[in-house]
Amino acid sequence: MVPSLPKKKKRVASCKYLIWENDVKYRGWLSKSTLGLSHAFCKVCNRDFTVDHGGLNDVSKHSSTALHQKSFNAQNITKAV
Ligand SMILES: [Zn+2]
Repeated sequence: MVPSLPKKKKRVASCKYLIWENDVKYRGWLSKSTLGLSHAFCKVCNRDFTVDHGGLNDVSKHSSTALHQKSFNAQNITKAV
């Protein structure tokens, strides 16, 4: 068992979006927010959410919210049919 915890290293803010957008877990629905680097935009929910506190943690937190899951599943169904 190898824990894959992200290292607590300060990154250049603009870089994290490149990492997130290329991550298979977030690719397709995560985007830059028009509100700035403290926010990310979820294409699935069509809304901005803050990533100022936990960064990638906030992203995974958002991806596990009921709203996101619902929107994500709805989108998948639409795509599949
Ligand atoms: Zn979402």
